[in-house]
Amino acid sequence: MGRQRGILGAWVLAGPLVLAGPGVWPSLAQGGKPTAEEARKFIDEVETRLAEMSVETAKADWVKSTHITDDTEFLSAAANRRQIAVAMDYAKKATRFDGLDLPPDLARKLALLKVSIDLPAPSDERKAKELTETVARMEGGYGKGKWCRPGPGGKEQCLDLNALGKLMAESRNEKELREAWAGWHAVGAPLKQDYLRYVELSNQGARDLGFKDLGAMWRSRYDMPPDAFAKEVDRLWEQVRPLYLSLHAYVRKRLRETYGEAVPAKGPIPAHLLGNMWAQQWGNIYPLVAPKDADPGLDVTTRLKAKGLTELEMVRTGERFFASLGFAALPQSFWQRSLFVKPRDREVVCHASAWDVDNRDDLRIKMCIEITGEDFDTVHHELGHNFYQRAYNQQPFLFLGSAHDGFHEAIGDTVALSITPAYLKQIGLIDGEPDPSKDVGLLMQLALDKLAFLPFGLVVDQWRWKLLSGEITAENANAEWWKLRQKYQGIAPPVSRGPDAFDACAKYHVPANVPYTRYFLAHILQFQFHKALTDTAGVKGPVNRRSIYGSKAAGDRLKRALEMGLSRPWPDAMEAMTGQRQMDARAILDYFAPLKKWLDKQNKGQAIGW
Ligand SMILES: [Zn+2]
Repeated sequence: MGRQRGILGAWVLAGPLVLAGPGVWPSLAQGGKPTAEEARKFIDEVETRLAEMSVETAKADWVKSTHITDDTEFLSAAANRRQIAVAMDYAKKATRFDGLDLPPDLARKLALLKVSIDLPAPSDERKAKELTETVARMEGGYGKGKWCRPGPGGKEQCLDLNALGKLMAESRNEKELREAWAGWHAVGAPLKQDYLRYVELSNQGARDLGFKDLGAMWRSRYDMPPDAFAKEVDRLWEQVRPLYLSLHAYVRKRLRETYGEAVPAKGPIPAHLLGNMWAQQWGNIYPLVAPKDADPGLDVTTRLKAKGLTELEMVRTGERFFASLGFAALPQSFWQRSLFVKPRDREVVCHASAWDVDNRDDLRIKMCIEITGEDFDTVHHELGHNFYQRAYNQQPFLFLGSAHDGFHEAIGDTVALSITPAYLKQIGLIDGEPDPSKDVGLLMQLALDKLAFLPFGLVVDQWRWKLLSGEITAENANAEWWKLRQKYQGIAPPVSRGPDAFDACAKYHVPANVPYTRYFLAHILQFQFHKALTDTAGVKGPVNRRSIYGSKAAGDRLKRALEMGLSRPWPDAMEAMTGQRQMDARAILDYFAPLKKWLDKQNKGQAIGW
């Protein structure tokens, strides 16, 4: 379905983000002030048990995802439940060492043990059970969502989210798009009561661990106070906002040529006309907004097919890219255990993901690869996770992870930004490089996906943080959702929203309790990394034409950052890779500079903003 890569491309690790282990720690039952020695023993025990259990859970999850039956779902759910319960237990016990003077590595591990839980359950067992059941029910309700319309012969035709995604990507019929949009968004209303209860219960769990609320707990993972992190995110957005405004104004103008008065000349763009159910990536409407004199440029899909590359060879090509940077080849087990092609005989979760099953070398990807340029990029995205996982596999269990969660999502995309015409020519996929004067088309295509995504990547958690902190109330929750979407994205709902509407829950990550800011950060970081690594590689010329392919110097810097895992505050990894200690969105402006110039020319005399 459509262009979902990156955003929905999951990564799975057996490490600390999914903690587990039986909660036995007898010495803690004793009173008195704990000692550093006790803390050390506690952490040793935690790491051993959690590592052990994480492998069991990863295997249960793998089998479920590659062979869906009632039984495999049951077993994986049971393993996950055990894991969460035990992780919570350990996290609560860790609070006993709060305020104790400890060596830095130990203090860091204790802190990570607490913040790494996505869904903290309340101490009260009845409430903890209610919370898990509530989230499972919301995920189920979302998963079963459908929109039904009268079909041929008077029979009802029901579309699931996959079919709806295709419709949103391909249809150019305003009325059909509007109905499909409203049809899908109806999935949110029935989840509202459950969601509000989830807010109460998960906040309780977060408070039990010493955080103000769940949002503050999520924001505590970035080596700075939660409020400082919120400001940091705002700062990054302010850097790219002018570029986004130019793209928005141009797209609005072109959409008016297709849809007429359905698109206002000055106001926000209706959310159903951007080629995606959430208006989060706009690549699917490229044909409607393509520069009029644009060369189709580079059609990787056609070239892959013409060269007869198989799914396996696409992955091999991705592996060779990493090898060219000096990374060791993937282990034999990767090729034996990964799933590359959709099986014919059973149900699998096709959604692309990267796995680290044993916290060492048992790396895998699970993906129903299609021979397209989009999937060629996704392969690099997923391999980025795998090479990251292996780079930090010498770290202790609680440090198995990326510098912060945005880093993990950014690495594969950083490499994918190096899939330039020059690189494709080097590996024999194209015969000649298109002239750089054609780059406006290529840049536009990338901007529709990556630049258009930024404000959406921001909005999801802006809303959740405010709802979780009580700043947004149950009564105004949906109105505030749309206020934020308008403020950041310049998007409006295409039909009026009734009093029951609860549109945030029409986006998977909300009912499924998956933090979202990591995707915003990843979209900023990948351009920063790309710029820094191509500088290191000594590549000259426009940033969008640069590739790090074959550069051991760039590979060394990359490796140095990846090997740290979670052992150091993220600015250390950032510095190892880029020489800077701050996240910085200026590299995006650099990358899209030729497009910005072109957009501003097109936008002359047009309204900017909404
Ligand atoms: Zn990913």
